[in-house]
Amino acid sequence: MDYIIASHNVKKRDELDRILNPLGIRVLFAEEAGVELTDAEETGTTFEENAFIKAESGCRESGMPCVADDSGLTVDYLDGAPGVYSARYSGVHGDDEANNQKLLKALEGVPDEERGAAFVSAICCVFPDGRKITVRGECRGRIGYEPKGDGGFGYDPLFLPVEYNGELTMAQLTAEQKDAISHRGKASRALAEILGGENCDK
Ligand code: IMP
Repeated sequence: MDYIIASHNVKKRDELDRILNPLGIRVLFAEEAGVELTDAEETGTTFEENAFIKAESGCRESGMPCVADDSGLTVDYLDGAPGVYSARYSGVHGDDEANNQKLLKALEGVPDEERGAAFVSAICCVFPDGRKITVRGECRGRIGYEPKGDGGFGYDPLFLPVEYNGELTMAQLTAEQKDAISHRGKASRALAEILGGENCDK
């Protein structure tokens, strides 16, 4: 069975595809499935709302089951910011370097114990018959003082996951190590568990 993903992000697609493939589900970009999707406007105030907006729109336009992920970084000291605005924190959508610099500036002088943060991923899957599944994954850690490592993307070079005791950033892990602990890895596996369940008509 083919699902489409309402995203242009190759890493998000590959990760979901890796996890759903054993269930007989292929996750395709719209163009690979021969359909055209408009980019839905992310007007929600939660990750779940934005994931639903993207998946619902993709399913309606394609007539196929559609998955969408909405993810970001929530920093305790900043009352959850940048949150759903993570991709455009610096004002320019998707400028990782500028986003990281702005975050470091916002945490200037803030001690270790107040630099707690979490990556969050909400994944929504909408089916042509109107059913929807929403799952969420979180990964706790804290924000470092300078970027380290060149793996991953986004805020990975600043994020020190608890699983590695503050010694390695997410950008210093292999893709497999990141998948095992990441917010998106956890949400993808939760989705796979539901889709693989007996009661779900794929
Ligand atoms: P989205 O593509 O609209 O969901 O935006 C996600 C944004 O959150 C990205 O541009 C990154 O800034 C941040 N983000 C989400 N997941 C990750 C991750 O796994 N590592 C680092 N940054 C992430």
